[in-house]
Amino acid sequence: MDIAKLTELAKDAGFTEVGTLDVATLQFLPEVRDMCAADKCHMYNHSWACPPACGTLDEMSARALKYSRGILVQTVAQLEDSFDFEGMGAAAEQHKQAFVKLHEVLREQYPDLFPMGSGGCTICPKCSYPDAPCRFPDRAIPSMEACGLLVSQVVSDNGMKYNHGRDTLAYTAAFLLE
Ligand code: SF4
Repeated sequence: MDIAKLTELAKDAGFTEVGTLDVATLQFLPEVRDMCAADKCHMYNHSWACPPACGTLDEMSARALKYSRGILVQTVAQLEDSFDFEGMGAAAEQHKQAFVKLHEVLREQYPDLFPMGSGGCTICPKCSYPDAPCRFPDRAIPSMEACGLLVSQVVSDNGMKYNHGRDTLAYTAAFLLE
Protein backbone atom coordinates (compact mmCIF):
# COMPACT_ATOMS: atom_id res chain seq x y z
CA MET A 1 0.00 0.00 0.00
CA ASP A 2 1.57 3.26 -1.14
CA ILE A 3 0.22 5.88 1.31
CA ALA A 4 1.80 8.77 -0.60
CA LYS A 5 -0.01 7.74 -3.77
CA LEU A 6 -3.25 7.06 -1.90
CA THR A 7 -3.01 10.47 -0.24
CA GLU A 8 -2.61 12.09 -3.64
CA LEU A 9 -5.65 10.22 -4.98
CA ALA A 10 -7.75 11.12 -1.93
CA LYS A 11 -6.77 14.81 -2.10
CA ASP A 12 -7.50 14.84 -5.83
CA ALA A 13 -10.95 13.45 -5.02
CA GLY A 14 -11.52 16.39 -2.65
CA PHE A 15 -10.66 15.15 0.84
CA THR A 16 -8.76 17.46 3.16
CA GLU A 17 -7.09 14.87 5.45
CA VAL A 18 -5.82 11.36 4.76
CA GLY A 19 -4.16 8.79 6.99
CA THR A 20 -3.32 5.12 7.27
CA LEU A 21 -5.84 2.85 8.99
CA ASP A 22 -4.51 -0.17 10.87
CA VAL A 23 -7.35 -2.71 11.10
CA ALA A 24 -5.81 -4.11 14.32
CA THR A 25 -6.86 -0.87 16.07
CA LEU A 26 -10.55 -1.32 15.30
CA GLN A 27 -12.91 -2.01 18.18
CA PHE A 28 -16.36 -3.23 17.21
CA LEU A 29 -18.64 -1.92 19.91
CA PRO A 30 -22.19 -3.08 20.69
CA GLU A 31 -22.82 0.40 22.17
CA VAL A 32 -22.34 1.95 18.75
CA ARG A 33 -24.87 -0.42 17.23
CA ASP A 34 -27.20 0.50 20.10
CA MET A 35 -26.85 4.12 18.95
CA CYS A 36 -27.91 2.99 15.44
CA ALA A 37 -30.96 1.31 16.96
CA ALA A 38 -31.84 4.55 18.77
CA ASP A 39 -32.29 5.90 15.21
CA LYS A 40 -31.08 9.46 15.74
CA CYS A 41 -29.94 9.53 12.10
CA HIS A 42 -33.30 8.14 10.86
CA MET A 43 -31.57 5.41 8.85
CA TYR A 44 -32.15 2.45 11.15
CA ASN A 45 -34.27 -0.14 9.32
CA HIS A 46 -34.33 2.09 6.23
CA SER A 47 -31.46 0.72 4.14
CA TRP A 48 -29.87 -2.57 3.18
CA ALA A 49 -26.54 -1.07 4.25
CA CYS A 50 -27.66 -0.06 7.77
CA PRO A 51 -28.65 -2.14 10.78
CA PRO A 52 -30.43 -4.41 11.11
CA ALA A 53 -30.33 -5.40 7.41
CA CYS A 54 -26.56 -4.96 6.92
CA GLY A 55 -25.79 -7.85 9.26
CA THR A 56 -24.97 -8.39 12.90
CA LEU A 57 -22.05 -6.76 14.66
CA ASP A 58 -20.19 -10.08 14.48
CA GLU A 59 -20.82 -10.35 10.75
CA MET A 60 -19.65 -6.79 10.11
CA SER A 61 -16.52 -7.20 12.22
CA ALA A 62 -15.72 -10.53 10.51
CA ARG A 63 -15.97 -8.76 7.18
CA ALA A 64 -13.63 -5.97 8.29
CA LEU A 65 -11.12 -8.32 9.91
CA LYS A 66 -10.39 -9.96 6.55
CA TYR A 67 -8.30 -6.85 5.88
CA SER A 68 -5.17 -5.61 7.58
CA ARG A 69 -5.02 -1.99 6.48
CA GLY A 70 -6.59 0.81 4.57
CA ILE A 71 -7.04 4.55 4.72
CA LEU A 72 -9.06 7.07 6.68
CA VAL A 73 -10.25 10.15 4.82
CA GLN A 74 -11.73 13.33 6.20
CA THR A 75 -13.51 16.39 4.93
CA VAL A 76 -12.81 19.22 7.36
CA ALA A 77 -14.86 22.38 7.01
CA GLN A 78 -14.40 25.73 8.72
CA LEU A 79 -17.84 26.99 9.69
CA GLU A 80 -18.77 30.63 10.36
CA ASP A 81 -20.22 29.59 13.71
CA SER A 82 -22.05 26.68 15.33
CA PHE A 83 -25.28 27.73 13.57
CA ASP A 84 -23.76 27.68 10.09
CA PHE A 85 -26.16 25.07 8.73
CA GLU A 86 -25.42 26.08 5.16
CA GLY A 87 -21.73 25.37 5.75
CA MET A 88 -22.56 22.03 7.35
CA GLY A 89 -24.67 21.03 4.36
CA ALA A 90 -21.97 22.09 1.92
CA ALA A 91 -19.37 20.07 3.82
CA ALA A 92 -21.61 17.00 3.83
CA GLU A 93 -22.10 17.30 0.08
CA GLN A 94 -18.37 17.81 -0.54
CA HIS A 95 -17.63 14.71 1.56
CA LYS A 96 -20.20 12.64 -0.30
CA GLN A 97 -18.89 13.66 -3.71
CA ALA A 98 -15.28 13.03 -2.70
CA PHE A 99 -16.23 9.61 -1.34
CA VAL A 100 -18.00 8.58 -4.57
CA LYS A 101 -15.06 9.80 -6.66
CA LEU A 102 -12.38 8.07 -4.58
CA HIS A 103 -14.45 4.88 -4.36
CA GLU A 104 -14.52 4.66 -8.15
CA VAL A 105 -10.77 5.25 -8.44
CA LEU A 106 -9.81 2.80 -5.68
CA ARG A 107 -12.06 0.04 -7.01
CA GLU A 108 -9.85 -0.15 -10.09
CA GLN A 109 -6.79 -0.81 -7.95
CA TYR A 110 -8.48 -2.73 -5.13
CA PRO A 111 -11.55 -4.51 -6.56
CA ASP A 112 -12.25 -6.24 -3.22
CA LEU A 113 -12.03 -3.11 -1.08
CA PHE A 114 -14.43 -2.52 1.80
CA PRO A 115 -15.74 1.05 1.87
CA MET A 116 -17.24 2.46 5.06
CA GLY A 117 -18.94 5.80 4.71
CA SER A 118 -20.53 8.48 6.84
CA GLY A 119 -24.25 7.95 7.17
CA GLY A 120 -26.39 5.68 5.06
CA CYS A 121 -25.57 4.28 1.64
CA THR A 122 -26.27 6.89 -1.02
CA ILE A 123 -25.59 4.90 -4.16
CA CYS A 124 -29.27 4.91 -5.17
CA PRO A 125 -31.43 8.02 -4.94
CA LYS A 126 -33.89 5.86 -2.97
CA CYS A 127 -32.86 2.61 -1.33
CA SER A 128 -34.92 -0.40 -2.43
CA TYR A 129 -35.19 -1.54 1.22
CA PRO A 130 -37.31 -3.41 2.21
CA ASP A 131 -39.47 -3.99 -0.87
CA ALA A 132 -36.82 -5.37 -3.23
CA PRO A 133 -33.28 -6.73 -2.92
CA CYS A 134 -30.32 -4.33 -2.80
CA ARG A 135 -29.64 -3.15 -6.35
CA PHE A 136 -25.86 -3.22 -5.90
CA PRO A 137 -25.00 -5.69 -3.14
CA ASP A 138 -21.32 -5.63 -4.13
CA ARG A 139 -21.15 -1.87 -3.88
CA ALA A 140 -23.51 -0.96 -1.05
CA ILE A 141 -21.75 1.22 1.50
CA PRO A 142 -22.31 0.72 5.23
CA SER A 143 -21.38 3.52 7.57
CA MET A 144 -18.51 3.14 10.01
CA GLU A 145 -21.13 3.14 12.77
CA ALA A 146 -23.04 0.29 11.10
CA CYS A 147 -19.83 -1.71 11.58
CA GLY A 148 -19.87 -0.83 15.29
CA LEU A 149 -17.02 1.66 15.02
CA LEU A 150 -16.80 4.79 17.15
CA VAL A 151 -15.40 7.22 14.61
CA SER A 152 -13.64 9.49 17.12
CA GLN A 153 -11.84 6.48 18.59
CA VAL A 154 -10.82 5.07 15.21
CA VAL A 155 -9.48 8.44 14.14
CA SER A 156 -7.43 9.06 17.30
CA ASP A 157 -6.20 5.45 17.47
CA ASN A 158 -4.76 5.95 14.00
CA GLY A 159 -2.98 9.21 14.76
CA MET A 160 -5.40 11.61 13.11
CA LYS A 161 -7.31 14.52 14.58
CA TYR A 162 -11.04 14.24 15.20
CA ASN A 163 -11.47 17.77 16.47
CA HIS A 164 -9.87 20.31 14.14
CA GLY A 165 -10.61 23.38 16.22
CA ARG A 166 -13.32 25.87 17.02
CA ASP A 167 -16.27 25.93 14.62
CA THR A 168 -14.89 23.17 12.45
CA LEU A 169 -16.74 20.10 11.30
CA ALA A 170 -15.07 16.87 10.18
CA TYR A 171 -16.70 14.05 8.26
CA THR A 172 -14.75 10.79 8.26
CA ALA A 173 -14.90 7.68 6.10
CA ALA A 174 -12.69 4.65 5.59
CA PHE A 175 -11.60 2.27 2.87
CA LEU A 176 -10.20 -1.10 3.89
CA LEU A 177 -7.91 -2.09 1.06
CA GLU A 178 -5.75 -5.12 1.74
S1 SF4 B 1 -26.88 0.12 -3.21
FE1 SF4 B 1 -28.91 1.09 -3.37
S2 SF4 B 1 -30.34 -0.53 -2.72
FE2 SF4 B 1 -28.30 -1.15 -2.01
S3 SF4 B 1 -28.11 -0.35 0.09
FE3 SF4 B 1 -27.25 1.21 -1.28
S4 SF4 B 1 -28.96 2.62 -1.67
FE4 SF4 B 1 -29.85 0.68 -0.89
